[in-house]
Amino acid sequence: MRWSEQLAGRAAHQAPPGSAAQQALPGMELAGVAAMPGHLRTTRSPEFAGMVFHEVLAKSALNRVPAGSAMPFSWTINPYRGCSHACVYCFARGSHQYLDFDAGADFDSQIVVKLNVAEVLARELAKPSWQGEMVALGTNTDPYQRAEGRYALLPGIIEALAAARTPISILTKGTLLRRDLPLLAEAQQRVPVELAMSIAVGDHALQQSIEPGTPTTRARLDTVAAARAAGLEVDVFVMPVLPHLTDGVAHLDALLTDIREAGARSVMYGALHLRSAVKPWFFAWLERERPELVPAYRRLYPGAASKATQAYRLELAARIRPLIRKHGLEFSGGGRRSRDPYPPVAAAGARGARQLPSTGESAGLALWDATPGMPAPTLF
Ligand code: SF4
Repeated sequence: MRWSEQLAGRAAHQAPPGSAAQQALPGMELAGVAAMPGHLRTTRSPEFAGMVFHEVLAKSALNRVPAGSAMPFSWTINPYRGCSHACVYCFARGSHQYLDFDAGADFDSQIVVKLNVAEVLARELAKPSWQGEMVALGTNTDPYQRAEGRYALLPGIIEALAAARTPISILTKGTLLRRDLPLLAEAQQRVPVELAMSIAVGDHALQQSIEPGTPTTRARLDTVAAARAAGLEVDVFVMPVLPHLTDGVAHLDALLTDIREAGARSVMYGALHLRSAVKPWFFAWLERERPELVPAYRRLYPGAASKATQAYRLELAARIRPLIRKHGLEFSGGGRRSRDPYPPVAAAGARGARQLPSTGESAGLALWDATPGMPAPTLF
């Protein structure tokens, strides 16, 4: 692969104003880049138009999920920060607001890459204190986003986890998962492997508009089928369900039909969740693409509310649960998942209650909702 305009961050910072070096870092203050912990270099490539990669050396790979979380795993790994899949509703946008990044376009295009994550992980797993608990990938940003095609960090991570007898959980929208199916099938001989594909929008035009950097829904369904053919079970996250856009019976029924035919094991669902950092970004999209829905969304997500009203969530539950049953996609409690994936909606609204993640790859939302004022965690 041909790379161009490769820059050391500090060298760029020291470059004369207006020089090619400075112009190569649009949208960021160069001082911020140079201050990034472990920063090695910042680079762009013609193959990834509009994207900037900040390559760093990480000090640690495993992140512990805070105590009290309802998540069915205790550890996560994030090879990347920021996500080129660029889903408008992405809950993780707020986690990108550090240094000089913003939660909008920077989240989609300024990608932090932990070059040494597999090596650091192997060292951490080798410690006598490691208990072999499940490790989850894809709970914040997508590990199979486009950058993974260049950096190929996942194979090393999967190999390290399997070698350490550590169960693996991966959630993604990326069809690049196909590349690693043989490796995951091999890993499954040694450790439990849980795969989940996020597929929430059946309408092609809407999907391309609201998830502009993702593979199509059809491509993701085909990836589910490929994983099944490789001997791997796949659960599907129908998240987020978008009020007035994807929550109709006809849309849900057609989507669940496709998911069943792809061979998925089960479906989990959740209504759109709009945390404060995401809300302005989402409403800007709504005003541009579907302005007639703005008043309805203001009613469903009033003020600073991040969750849709309870009345809406009850209505959605009454609509989708019979469909999930009809298609035989109810969660069976397989694998190592321990929580009820379909908790009563009323209980889900209670502070501290166990509840489904409410949007995207939002494993952290239950924690965020349960602990008002807590900053967006680096869970992932
Ligand atoms: S929802 Fe997932 S795939 Fe979409 S931008 Fe966020 S992390 Fe990436």
